[in-house]
Amino acid sequence: MEQPMERPMEQPMEQPVGAHFATRAVHAGRDDFAALGVHAPPLDLSSTYPTPDLDAAARSFDSLVMGDAPQGSFVYQRLFNPTTDRFERGLALLEGAEDAAAFGSGMAALTATLLAAKSRGTHVVAVRPMYGTADHPLTSGLLGMTVTWTTQDAVGSVMQADTGLVIVETPANPTLALVDIADVVRQAGTVPVLVDSTFATPVLQRPLEQGAALVIHSATKFLGGHGDVLAGVVAGSHALVRDIKHVRAATGGLLHPMGSYLLHRGLPTLALRVERAQATAGILAEQLVGDARIARVHYPSLPGQDPRGLLGTQMDGPGSVLSFELARDDAATLRAFVEALRLITPAVSLGSTDTLIQPPALLTHRVVKEDDRRAAGIAGGLLRLSVGLEDARDVWRDLQHALQVVTAR
Ligand SMILES: *Cc1c(COP(=O)(O)O)cnc(C)c1O
Repeated sequence: MEQPMERPMEQPMEQPVGAHFATRAVHAGRDDFAALGVHAPPLDLSSTYPTPDLDAAARSFDSLVMGDAPQGSFVYQRLFNPTTDRFERGLALLEGAEDAAAFGSGMAALTATLLAAKSRGTHVVAVRPMYGTADHPLTSGLLGMTVTWTTQDAVGSVMQADTGLVIVETPANPTLALVDIADVVRQAGTVPVLVDSTFATPVLQRPLEQGAALVIHSATKFLGGHGDVLAGVVAGSHALVRDIKHVRAATGGLLHPMGSYLLHRGLPTLALRVERAQATAGILAEQLVGDARIARVHYPSLPGQDPRGLLGTQMDGPGSVLSFELARDDAATLRAFVEALRLITPAVSLGSTDTLIQPPALLTHRVVKEDDRRAAGIAGGLLRLSVGLEDARDVWRDLQHALQVVTAR
């Protein structure tokens, strides 16, 4: 059994410093195992913790509410959970961050990050395209913040005195456009830049190395990797993550320890999964480009799609999400294509073990106004394919079959 009082909370992380990514991924967030005498992370489901020493408990409570570390008792699960803390420290290590905060969803992580940014200013600068559901709360003013949507090149020109955060997503959803993080950071000046790196994972991109202040993931996707966890995580400096944990303690978005356990369990195989799916996506992208029934393929490693040369510098590989437009892009053809698939799962989300497909204009990006969608390059007939871990030949066969069915109509 775990003994919270004896856990060396304030000691510096003893991690395999300097080790390569795959090694760190295997050992990250496991530095207290030897002291605990365990080999797998203990799953602590306690909603509350005994507080026999009331003064000590009050001190810990005060610390946790502000987003700081526990001082003895963990007090209450909304304030702290050791299973979640281990995943957070593991993920922070992989991102090169000082700390991380895990939430019950990517959107919970994003809204807490936005609310924490309000102490600096209520204006946000954001680059389109962006995940549809992230676009919506900004545009609608739901959180009491205003947003200026812009392009990568114009970030510097739309900054205001009350800009508290700059947000970019790269690779962007669903066009796979790459944003030059270092360039945006230069334009943002002293204002923190938040990068949604969900599509890349720390295997392929670590935005803090490019100067970003914060990196956010929908951990529901590749970090979870098996389609069975809804979660989000944001990583950065102690100071910025502290403010975010402060909001989390107040608004109650802490990730359930079961989700944290599954995410932590998945870190050692993250690189294997990401690299395998990426290899398959590369094969499929080439095949789709060579098919006359496809009008356009979006994938960063295809010729002309990385004008700033970010592959190999900012990003270690193009990832495993691609999108394509059918030559016939009317809604009926789109529907017939999806219905003809027998292996690929028609579903929103991405980064699962199985290959998923969905039409963004009809599903994930339907909350974005049509004009804004078009301006961001999201065609009505676009299909987003999240390549899974199946054999490339079988996925290609399924795509071929569906193409034949719609061509024969
Ligand atoms: C899915 C997703 C989100 C939202 O995350 P949830 O876990 O669904 O709340 C944010 N950004 C990107 C890029 C995503 O793919």
